[in-house]
Amino acid sequence: MPTTGTTKSTTSAGTAKQRKVADCRLFPSEKNCSLTIAGTEEEVLEVAVQHAATSHGHKNTPELRNQIKAMLKDER
Ligand SMILES: [Zn+2]
Repeated sequence: MPTTGTTKSTTSAGTAKQRKVADCRLFPSEKNCSLTIAGTEEEVLEVAVQHAATSHGHKNTPELRNQIKAMLKDER
């Protein structure tokens, strides 16, 4: 029988969503922007798309969203 009983307490924390980081320095832009956005993938995408649109003049398109999604990194 596997000893899953002892790991039960840690599974609640383990199921927490992996936080993602969007680093604006990795995103091509004319500005020297050093903003980083951290949170769940949904949160980061939402804010990053808005930031790209308002601060960098990108068009808020599904394509932009995909580009940002592609450059998300796992938070450590
Ligand atoms: Zn930026």
